[in-house]
Amino acid sequence: MQLQEILYCQGFGTRRVCAGLVQQGHVSIAGAVETDPFIDLEPTGLHYKVQGTEWAFHEKAYLMLHKPAGTECSQKPSTWPSIYTLLPSPLRLRPNKGAVQGVQAIGRLDQDTTGLLLLTDDGQFIHRMGSPKHHVPKVYEVTVKHPLDDAQVQKLLAGVVLDDDPKPVRAAACEAVAPLHLRLTLTEGKYHQVKRMVAAVGNRVEGLHRSSIGRLALPSDLAPGQWRWLTAEEVESLR
Ligand code: URA
Repeated sequence: MQLQEILYCQGFGTRRVCAGLVQQGHVSIAGAVETDPFIDLEPTGLHYKVQGTEWAFHEKAYLMLHKPAGTECSQKPSTWPSIYTLLPSPLRLRPNKGAVQGVQAIGRLDQDTTGLLLLTDDGQFIHRMGSPKHHVPKVYEVTVKHPLDDAQVQKLLAGVVLDDDPKPVRAAACEAVAPLHLRLTLTEGKYHQVKRMVAAVGNRVEGLHRSSIGRLALPSDLAPGQWRWLTAEEVESLR
């Protein structure tokens, strides 16, 4: 694939902008500046630098972000900064045939929720992960206002009825880790589900953090606001 085309499909701008980046000496491969935008390269496994930043070729982008509090999972946020401002522009600008450009969050977390958020430009993957048939467990660390009692935990496990659906929703797992710390595992993702379930048993969410999705846990060294690529094995574990 021509270098100009590689940069284009990785989100560095139009083909003309990408050609310009190369011709102006902003792109290096294996430590050497490459000034020919039309040089033919094998993209798989390619590592390169653009304006000093290291990149690796990814046919599809799959990432995790440690969502900080005070950010919205929307491209057009109403009040708080968008999570997308935490990502470098190539990830936001990757062309995506016929679909919205750039990576998209897989599901949403509330403005005040922190923790593990996945993003991708693979539309089928987003669709599958969001499907009601796809029961990938999501673990939430919940700080509650009032000390937990066993009845609340049992009710969350047995199922509670929320205001938009007569069918009860239940936690796949639920334990009181400490008097004010509930660990709740859900396999669906209804609007404000944790907050509404906790309210339905007479308590209140004071803090909410998603610690894992499927077998993928938020790494302790990924600080709030930071992101990293998922490995191929991590992506496979979610399929
Ligand atoms: N449930 C909620 O109530 N909020 C979130 O952000 C995620 C799950």
